[in-house]
Amino acid sequence: MEKQKIYNFSAGPAVLPEVVLKEAAEAVVNYDNHSMSILEMSHRSAPIVDMITETRQLIHQFLNVPDNYRILFLQGGASLQFSMIPMNILTDDVTADYTDTGAWSAKAIKEARIYGKVNVVCSSKETVYNHIPKDFEQSSDQVYLHITTNNTIYGTQWFEFPDANGFLVSDMSSDIFSRPIDVSKFGIIYAGAQKNMGPAGVTIVILREDLIGKSGRDLPAMLDFAIHSEKDSMFNTPPVFAIYVVNRTLHWLNHLGGIEEIFEQNKAKAKLLYGEIERNPIFKSPVAKEDRSLMNVPFIFANGGDEKDFLNYCAKRGLVTLKGHRSVGGFRASIYNAMPKEGVKNLVDAIQNYSQS
Ligand SMILES: *Cc1c(COP(=O)(O)O)cnc(C)c1O
Repeated sequence: MEKQKIYNFSAGPAVLPEVVLKEAAEAVVNYDNHSMSILEMSHRSAPIVDMITETRQLIHQFLNVPDNYRILFLQGGASLQFSMIPMNILTDDVTADYTDTGAWSAKAIKEARIYGKVNVVCSSKETVYNHIPKDFEQSSDQVYLHITTNNTIYGTQWFEFPDANGFLVSDMSSDIFSRPIDVSKFGIIYAGAQKNMGPAGVTIVILREDLIGKSGRDLPAMLDFAIHSEKDSMFNTPPVFAIYVVNRTLHWLNHLGGIEEIFEQNKAKAKLLYGEIERNPIFKSPVAKEDRSLMNVPFIFANGGDEKDFLNYCAKRGLVTLKGHRSVGGFRASIYNAMPKEGVKNLVDAIQNYSQS
């Protein structure tokens, strides 16, 4: 019997392209015909240094990163950036503005408060983060404005970025490489890899050079952007294998046609799924229409229903990890870059057939 194809709609760690998984598996045994596992190779050996350099170049190329930005490969997840950024940037005489658009934003706010003055300029918390606030006032002494470009749990996304009084800092963990962006609008972009580009273990930080080394604080070396930048992310052992998987994912993206092409595919997949949720009387979206994420699609029963039954129904069809986040309930389909259109089509079919069953 042929094994059933599984489509993994997990929010993260999330689906990766099958070809990338195979390349990663091979590299664990024999990296690039060096007769050695990538797990055993020195981060300072030529093949690994070349691979990391190439990964940086691919990011540079895909996002059109201007030359006055540094690309760092760090550890500690996006969660460490919640504190590392204010630690490195926030001084006593200025305010950091934060937009509160979800659980991850709220965590970033909590950490920043340890290091300086924080002003929460807007929040959609009262409506369970079902939209992106549009009108808000920023501090006049603002150093930066923090946004979470895609709210993984609640399924909202910023489609237009606000103009910051200072500069924009952005958590792009769940939508980096999903659409073209103008990096020059941002002072700092950070993203954990395990949503849209690789496995957990590496965090990509893209930061403008002039922001490095300004905090006036004594920082532990591992938490200092200046040290990581000066050492080209080789101050200590970087997460080589995780970076390698990101490298292969970016090659996959390149073969596919790059960011513009994946953006079109992402829009088409989202349209298909939201279209069915809109059409189907049994389900509905809890999210304001204009802010609906192309990456994470939460949906709920319109008039109640047996959630477990629907999840089982989907699981039997190979459609897994569709349970909504515990704070929202219902269902959530994460349809990152690596989720094939076929997977979304199968989910749409399941939603359709379930309501007829
Ligand atoms: C998953 C996620 C995080 C947390 O990432 P870690 O790498 O686990 O620290 C932060 N922000 C967003 C938007 C996320 O989706």
